[in-house]
Amino acid sequence: MRWDSQRADSDPQQALLGLDGLVRSVRSPEFAGVTFHEVRARSVLNRVPGQSAVPFSWTVNPYRGCSHACAYCFARNTHTYLEFDAGRDFDTQVVVKINAPEVLARQLKRPSWRREHVAMGTNTDPYQRAEGRYRLMPGIIRAFAESGTPFSILTKGTTMSRDIPLLRSVAGDVEVGLGVSIALLDRELQRRVEPGTPSPQARLELVRRLRDAGLPCGVMIAPVLPGLTDSTEQLDALLAEVAEAGATSATVLALHLRPGAREWYAQWLAREHPELVDGYRKIYGRGSYAAAGYRRVLAARVGPLLRRHGFARDRGEASHRIPTPREAEVVPEQMTLL
Ligand code: SF4
Repeated sequence: MRWDSQRADSDPQQALLGLDGLVRSVRSPEFAGVTFHEVRARSVLNRVPGQSAVPFSWTVNPYRGCSHACAYCFARNTHTYLEFDAGRDFDTQVVVKINAPEVLARQLKRPSWRREHVAMGTNTDPYQRAEGRYRLMPGIIRAFAESGTPFSILTKGTTMSRDIPLLRSVAGDVEVGLGVSIALLDRELQRRVEPGTPSPQARLELVRRLRDAGLPCGVMIAPVLPGLTDSTEQLDALLAEVAEAGATSATVLALHLRPGAREWYAQWLAREHPELVDGYRKIYGRGSYAAAGYRRVLAARVGPLLRRHGFARDRGEASHRIPTPREAEVVPEQMTLL
């Protein structure tokens, strides 16, 4: 790999970057079309704004942008704070906080740190493809464990399986919540709507491996895409696979479309499924959340399926609460879906 020789800092776009602590920008044939902007962060522990209704107060995101490239990703708009766009740039201009483990360890050692729960995967995926190269997560997990800080991780990235022995060893010392996000089973649709993600089957295998290692693992069936993944048959088949993989819980959430994601997903839908555009207009109108009528129908559909597959309550003996990235954006009514 010619990683080190692929400096991209002569790129004219670099002059526009609002990146604090930029060390270098690199490309690699291994990650065609993706530029990694390596930065030295001053802080990696983020406090969740006080008005947020999420069940955690702190987050850590070692990466900004995400090569998993989900058309519906609600974090897209955060890329505009860096003077990137919320569309293709979000997928291909990935910021890497290369010193995240050291900075986090330092922050967690402060006497003022009260060992509150820290959620990962709340903005971008910590086990996206770049993690195979940068290997930031082992140091981050160790920093949590050594400081006695409970944490959770939600991911679509099967690179997490690399860290199963480490997760297993720290789970005896601190509370660990793990979640895998699987929105659908249809491989062709997955390739089109989440083109950078591992296959659904690979993610089910990750769930299996986590459970075989004795770790709790919930599954986020999210987002449910109206007209594409929301039939009783589709949800039933997915929940059956999730149950068979041994997931300790399953949570189903409808798609929501915040600004940034809304425009990008609308383009995707018009290109891939123009016949659904009018239906989405009716469900989403000008807002971010699915209409109450749609959510009611989905809830009525999902409830019996969750019961059928044993997910009416958590199945795991030690199933810790899994804070999810979606929850950070979910209005209270959506939480009543289940
Ligand atoms: S994996 Fe998560 S963070 Fe990454 S693009 Fe998809 S929805 Fe966004």
